Amino acid sequence: MAAQSYDIVTVGGGVAAAAFAKAMAERGAKVLILERERRFKDRVRGEGLVCWGVAEARQLGIHDLLKQGCGHELPLVESGAGQRDLTLTTPHRLPVLSFPHQHMQEVLLAAAENSGVEVRRGVSVELVEPGPAPAVLVDGRSHERIPTRLVVAADGRGSPARKWADFAVSEQSNGYYMAGVLLSDIQASPDTLYYVFNPDLGMCIGLIPLGKNRSRAYFMYPKSTGYRLQGENMLDLFLTESPKAYSPLADYYSGAKCIGPLASFDVSDVWVEHPYRNGVALIGDAAATTDPTFGQGLSLALRDARILSTELANDSDWDRAANRYAEQHRRYFHACHTVEGWSRTLFQDPSPEAAALREKAMPLIAQDPSRVPDHIFSGPDLPLNDEVRARFFGER
Ligand SMILES: Cc1cc2nc3c(=O)[nH]c(=O)nc-3n(C[C@H](O)[C@H](O)[C@H](O)COP(=O)(O)OP(=O)(O)OC[C@H]3O[C@@H](n4cnc5c(N)ncnc54)[C@H](O)[C@@H]3O)c2cc1C
Repeated sequence: MAAQSYDIVTVGGGVAAAAFAKAMAERGAKVLILERERRFKDRVRGEGLVCWGVAEARQLGIHDLLKQGCGHELPLVESGAGQRDLTLTTPHRLPVLSFPHQHMQEVLLAAAENSGVEVRRGVSVELVEPGPAPAVLVDGRSHERIPTRLVVAADGRGSPARKWADFAVSEQSNGYYMAGVLLSDIQASPDTLYYVFNPDLGMCIGLIPLGKNRSRAYFMYPKSTGYRLQGENMLDLFLTESPKAYSPLADYYSGAKCIGPLASFDVSDVWVEHPYRNGVALIGDAAATTDPTFGQGLSLALRDARILSTELANDSDWDRAANRYAEQHRRYFHACHTVEGWSRTLFQDPSPEAAALREKAMPLIAQDPSRVPDHIFSGPDLPLNDEVRARFFGER
């Protein structure tokens, strides 16, 4: 069946695709979003947009939409060693913005549609054909083939589109699981993000208030524990194990009610070094799935949306523009990846080798907390070099 042609077709309609499509439609491009879900539901996904991601949202012109449509601001972070006010201590002077992920998706998709993007829901992409005249094939009886100038694959973790388009994928296995569940009636501060590591146990907890008496509770733990916290019958174990990492949780969770599924994930990193080739660009998790323990995925997705849309708007040669996006992606992704690796070693890794590194580094960090590279909250544009590493590990 012959189909209409578009400047851009996106595979998926999550945060990366919706933010990018909106930006391109506002610049006059004819954009089609293909999203397989008719209605988004709780999949246990990112709900804390860190400060540098909030700055990205502002630059994309979606910050007010998110804040008013579904957002809740968290100016404070509790790390177990005291509170930090992000609005005073980050370069952007911004809080974390939290939201229920599925509501955020609806808000952004509606905003894309209002900007002129055509959105088709309940449509699953079955194949991407790369090349100088790329196309997307969708399911259904019609076996529709949709030609386009550029395919933007934003189909999330495990992205089949990156395989269809023949991208080489790199992977780093990390030895932890991350479990998450939505709770109500938590007895904790509603404007504080709780983010506490316990390296002796190899554990970390995250507690993200979402407003309206809802909080997303996370628990990261070593795969060597032998259990997988998934499904209703593992909830009690989730609620008793996570306070081992941070004891105040026992009180916070005492009257809690479970209001969503309990799911857990392997936190391994999966990425493509150069996320553009042959008429197909990858953005969001399809380009790089980072360890969610460090909460960088949403911010990276918005950075991808901003950089790719800016490059395409500034160059009529889209092959050249998309290659420039991919070069920039490599730099900012690797900055996040590197700092996450250092932080995992110093704050989470229970091995004797990591404990020895902590013995040297932690007293110096206690004296001067600025030794900790702040890329997680302040973004990948902060300096990153041997000097930064040496200060963090107490070698200088
Ligand atoms: C447990 C967990 C906690 C996290 N916590 C945080 C956090 O606190 N902060 C943070 O910044 N990040 C966090 N992240 C990461 C964050 O959720 C992701 O980086 C972000 O959702 C990526 O957005 P995306 O648009 O690339 O992909 P997705 O959000 O996965 O969207 C992909 C979309 O594509 C659609 N799709 C897929 N395949 C097809 C197809 N064939 N055809 C049509 N549609 C398709 C899907 O239905 C989906 O809507 C977390 C991740 C996990 C797993």
